[in-house]
Amino acid sequence: MPRTEPISGETYAALATEYSTGINAAELKLVDFLTGIPHDARLSTALVLRRRTTSEAHRYAHAADLAARMPDLFDHFRSDGRFSVDHLDAIWSRINRHNRALRAAGAEVPDLLDTAVARLLTQWIRNTGNTIHTALADVTDEILCTLAPLVAEATETDEAAAVSLTRRGTRLTLDCGSEVTADALWQAIGTAALTTRREMTDDDRPAPPMSRCRGQVALGALGGRRDQLTVTVNAYRPHGDAPAYVLGTGWVCPTTAAELTALAARIRELPDAAEVPPTPSYRFTTLQRALIEGRDGHCRFPGCSVPADRCDHDHLVSSPHTDPDSDGDTCVTNGISLCRTHHTLKTARIWTPTSLDDAVTLHWTGPGGVAVSTVAAGPLSPTRDPFTALSSTAPVQYHPRACPSSSCMTSGKPTSPPPERSGLSTASTSPSTKAPSGDSSAPTVRGKPPRSRS
Ligand SMILES: [Zn+2]
Repeated sequence: MPRTEPISGETYAALATEYSTGINAAELKLVDFLTGIPHDARLSTALVLRRRTTSEAHRYAHAADLAARMPDLFDHFRSDGRFSVDHLDAIWSRINRHNRALRAAGAEVPDLLDTAVARLLTQWIRNTGNTIHTALADVTDEILCTLAPLVAEATETDEAAAVSLTRRGTRLTLDCGSEVTADALWQAIGTAALTTRREMTDDDRPAPPMSRCRGQVALGALGGRRDQLTVTVNAYRPHGDAPAYVLGTGWVCPTTAAELTALAARIRELPDAAEVPPTPSYRFTTLQRALIEGRDGHCRFPGCSVPADRCDHDHLVSSPHTDPDSDGDTCVTNGISLCRTHHTLKTARIWTPTSLDDAVTLHWTGPGGVAVSTVAAGPLSPTRDPFTALSSTAPVQYHPRACPSSSCMTSGKPTSPPPERSGLSTASTSPSTKAPSGDSSAPTVRGKPPRSRS
């Protein structure tokens, strides 16, 4: 029923409170469930249950760790209703920052500190009524620095000596190790950026923003010029006018696809998967890997988004090379893409996948009776949406070198209508051959005749 009256501020506040209390309760219920899962399986279980991001799964795993270590504080949070998984994660992060120093301090120190921190935090919350999670984090820091000043000092010394550079998307994150170093670098880059800014500004061009100028300075210092880099891009494209699927990026428009193809040093035409026979070796061949990656798109573990070309190629049914009692073939239909982390969990039998349709659908079972299925979603997957299936897929694999030159893999174009890849080839995977259960969305693929493969 549509509301006919506006919600008053008072009513809205009550709704918001009720809403957030409900969310908090649900979150902490999941945290409580995770405390019953073995420590080393909590992260993957959180990822499977939530299917959000890895960073979100980390927050749940951290919260469960803290809840198990501080049961009284956790009970307080659950009964209060105003605390969320973020509050637990914030406290966990502040304490965990000192992990190394705490371990070095002696076996009993972490437990003693946990007990003291939980008691003082509970007391602080009762006294102040404060539920702001940044305040909670700051108080946690204050307690740690007061109760264990030598531990805090050891941590700060370690951090000052450690730097790291990480990447997410187009962003590089440089951890300078300390605020002091970060400040000094920022000033130096800012000074150089001012010079760059003057050079980039003239009567016809307005001054660019300082953030861009700092970026130019940093890229120059890091050698971020394309003509100095060698880049490998694996793309799948059905034919010359079609969009292409780039592993790790997703679909790009026909123009970009054409640019990638033009830069490619190599283009491979892919046959239908059904036409690629098993091989006696343990390792998958280059052609098998291209077909597996094209079918999967990314790691097949539920919720994981590591691109398939950065994954391991694992035997769904173990190969006799590693398990004499098993008879898994080295072939496309027995190969799956798993990132190293999830490959390790499968090998340890913490999570086990099975498939009834040649690895198109994987049924995962794991800790706590959790069962989830994933379906291959790459450009060659037989279950792809018909809309994209019509226009897509041939793998273009290119290894640009110097201002990206590349090699492409493509396959021939099909003359028929196909979900298969047309053009470049790739084959479509023919799921049909083995898919037992009728997957209505699966195109019947008959792959295109392979043309040539470079
Ligand atoms: Zn993964």
